[in-house]
Amino acid sequence: MILYPNLYCKNVLAITVDILQKNNIKGLILDVDNTLIDIDRNMDPKVKDWVDELKENGIKLCIVSNTNKVDKVKKVSETLDLPYFYFAKKPLKSGFKKAKELLKLEYKEIAAVGDQIMTDVVGANRCKIFSILVEPISEKDIFITKIKRPIEKIIINRYLSKIKKEKV
Ligand SMILES: [Mg+2]
Repeated sequence: MILYPNLYCKNVLAITVDILQKNNIKGLILDVDNTLIDIDRNMDPKVKDWVDELKENGIKLCIVSNTNKVDKVKKVSETLDLPYFYFAKKPLKSGFKKAKELLKLEYKEIAAVGDQIMTDVVGANRCKIFSILVEPISEKDIFITKIKRPIEKIIINRYLSKIKKEKV
């Protein structure tokens, strides 16, 4: 199902080295807005430690953001010391492809993390990248995202009841 993630987590910190290694993931593509920072551009300091731990364990990381605000993405990339692509137009494949080439990995070795189904999850699924959906950091969203949230809630609920059924 193109709309369903391979994994649904509370936030990026819940994505452990163990989870990645069990799924043969060697690289991670990260969304920015509401995945790494909130609408006021604040980042949990624990995110830096999380990124460093992944790096120490050989996981390669790259930022792929849809925003056209380069200053915002650049600041996050400098804080975390990660390469970045912005204005990526997810769910189009081009941003994921650029990241794949930069990471020098195959699609099947990469996971993509984001808070939006229509962009992050669908884009990753189209590339057969392991898709990880996280809960958005803040309730506040830019206008266009706000419109999509109720639809996302329906999809997430269906997804959760599906995996629940599978576990029984
Ligand atoms: Mg986002």
